[in-house]
Amino acid sequence: MEFIGFNSWNEKLKNEQHLIIAGPCSAETKEQVLNTAVKIAQNTKVKVFRAGVWKPRTNPGNFEGVGVEALDWLIAVKNQTGLLTMVEVATPEHVRAALEKKVDFLWIGARTTVNPFSVQAIADELKGVDIPVLIKNPINPDLKLWIGAIQRIYKAGIKKIAAIHRGFFPFEETKFRNIPKWEIMIELKTTFPNLQIITDPSHIAGKFDLVPDVAEMALSMNVDGLMIETHINPKIALSDAAQQLTPFQLKELLDNLTFRQSKPENAKIIDDLQQLRHSIDSIDFQLLELLAKRMQIVEKIGFYKNLRKISVFQVERWKDIRETRIQAGGDLNLDADFVKKILQLVHNESINVQTKKNINK
Ligand code: PEP
Ligand code: MN
Repeated sequence: MEFIGFNSWNEKLKNEQHLIIAGPCSAETKEQVLNTAVKIAQNTKVKVFRAGVWKPRTNPGNFEGVGVEALDWLIAVKNQTGLLTMVEVATPEHVRAALEKKVDFLWIGARTTVNPFSVQAIADELKGVDIPVLIKNPINPDLKLWIGAIQRIYKAGIKKIAAIHRGFFPFEETKFRNIPKWEIMIELKTTFPNLQIITDPSHIAGKFDLVPDVAEMALSMNVDGLMIETHINPKIALSDAAQQLTPFQLKELLDNLTFRQSKPENAKIIDDLQQLRHSIDSIDFQLLELLAKRMQIVEKIGFYKNLRKISVFQVERWKDIRETRIQAGGDLNLDADFVKKILQLVHNESINVQTKKNINK
């Protein structure tokens, strides 16, 4: 698939390094939308104004958006501020209404991306239309489903596509509302190198004070842009109140973020990176050789265990391995959780080798 990058989506984005989108979770009133937009527009880094007009809510009875009426407020935003506008669409009716009101970009939400029927219905409505579409990851960490949604929109003839990483639903309590999975984002980028991916730090963070850290992390992962929920008065927001920034906080955030070059241009930096990467390559190959040696010994032990009919898994030994390695890792400044995860993988594989089964995979 050959995607068209955001620099070619609109004249106003021609020279932007990053696509910066800001605006409230929901359009609530004309005043709230316009007051927010006017303040956001004072920041020249922001070129696109987002607002949810139809809100997918977990429970019925919550504020579900004001609907088509709010699209006229977006027209007013465009006229008064020059910002481009963007709404979430979840049904063909939404698409028709948004196109009729000349909204500039559309996005597909996480709860829609999970459903191929919904995405296909949107794609069918978009056939023959030239409008950029941004596709959020599905709420569950299923890369194939995300790619499937991108393919459906692409097959409708839309090449102006970008993906939005907004994190994944956590089953356990975590500091994030939605866990960022940078490895899935990297996998998507590796599969489609010319697909631009932006991050929505607001829905990952869930709390306004965590938004800057997530945004900084996203930029260090070389994302192509950010979508940040911003509300003139987050305290009284009708949806996602806890995670929205004020326009002032947005300005502070954008002023303090480190916008990085995606590729080093300076010869000295390239040279330094090259040398360090050679060292990393060499260490990786040593790690692999050591792992292979470890597995050979594991196999031998498996042989003895089978011969003497001793069970493969030995809880005392496993506890000892874990404790001593985490301790040793700590002495080497390695994160305990990281060491634990690696050990679990290695131990699992060792059991596989000794049982010659792959049921643990
Ligand atoms: C939103 O952007 O306000 C939204 C509903 O997001 P998501 O689809 O990521 O939950
Ligand atoms: Mn929201």
